[in-house]
Amino acid sequence: MQGREIRLAARPVGEPKPTDFALAEVEVPDPAEGELLVRNLVMSVDPYMRGRMNDVKSYVPPFQLDAALQGGAVGEVVESRSDSHAVGDLVLHMQGWRDYAVGPATTFRQVERTASPSHHLGILGMPGLTAYAGLFGVAGLQAGETVFISGAAGAVGSLAGQFARLRGAKVVGSAGSADKVRWLVEELGFDAAFNYRDAPVKDQLRTFAPDGIDAYFDNVGGDHLEAAIDVLKVHGRAAICGMISQYNNTEATPGPRNMSMIVGKRLVLRGFLVSDHGDLLPEFTREVGGWLADGKLVVRETVVDGLENAPEAFLGLLRGDNTGKMVVRIA
Ligand code: NAP
Repeated sequence: MQGREIRLAARPVGEPKPTDFALAEVEVPDPAEGELLVRNLVMSVDPYMRGRMNDVKSYVPPFQLDAALQGGAVGEVVESRSDSHAVGDLVLHMQGWRDYAVGPATTFRQVERTASPSHHLGILGMPGLTAYAGLFGVAGLQAGETVFISGAAGAVGSLAGQFARLRGAKVVGSAGSADKVRWLVEELGFDAAFNYRDAPVKDQLRTFAPDGIDAYFDNVGGDHLEAAIDVLKVHGRAAICGMISQYNNTEATPGPRNMSMIVGKRLVLRGFLVSDHGDLLPEFTREVGGWLADGKLVVRETVVDGLENAPEAFLGLLRGDNTGKMVVRIA
């Protein structure tokens, strides 16, 4: 059987280009004893993939040149040579960027048939747990506190803002367009939001959080982090989740200019990886699953059709084309 896969054709320098990717036709191997053959339905594009395209040592190994990319995907078992899975099971796994995945049954996790398979790549999956762990595990957000969330209209940010509101916090968000800002306030119920392109982040954050912020959920870094350090209250906490403003940089970026405030205000800035917070999964599933079932969450996705368009979806994610989770529908 033939299938298609997207390969890394060249390591991007700065902003990735379409020519850094290649679509290849491949022979799909038959599953061996203990393996599954899975037809992918939907795959994720995520900012961390940009880091894996560089040939540097990090918390995940770099992608290999001229080999299929990898990433979260949800598919349907079409052939099973393992007792653990049956044909028709819906599974979550890491062999995205291709039509068919073949591998040991232990690398595929069966998931429930929810409203959409893509929910396992967003609200009920990695971005959802990231938002939950960052807010409540890392930043220790409490009811009545004010949190600033950058990258607020993206997958993690839009969920973090809603979770914080549902737990009784006040939420200020930033995003890169007027439409996104309107969506945050009018549909997600953010207390305030601003477009970071309109004026310096520091000035806008001071305006929209005049009494300061207790916590900061950082998806962006750079001027957003500097603004947050400025506006955080004494004993404020920051969950440092990502720094997307720097992922395409080719040179080291200067840090925030106001680091000395960390001392006087006794701030805690803590980086985290979602993979360290699996212990929160049962609590996350119970609480967020409950909110979802009760219709208390707005779940928006930006869906790009066709595996061949996955590179464009990834480039679009880095440019801010998405509102909510960016996913690629494969079948
Ligand atoms: P996302 O927010 O859905 O998509 C990326 C967004 O980043 C874009 O939509 C764009 O929105 C914004 N952006 C791009 N360049 C920017 C810039 N220069 N300044 C400000 N915003 C910019 O992606 P996501 O999956 O939810 O990830 C959000 C962040 O969380 C990323 O930093 C990611 O690396 C991080 N993350 C960390 C973990 C972890 O375990 N620590 C796990 C998942 C994700 P605008 O239109 O608003 O610019």
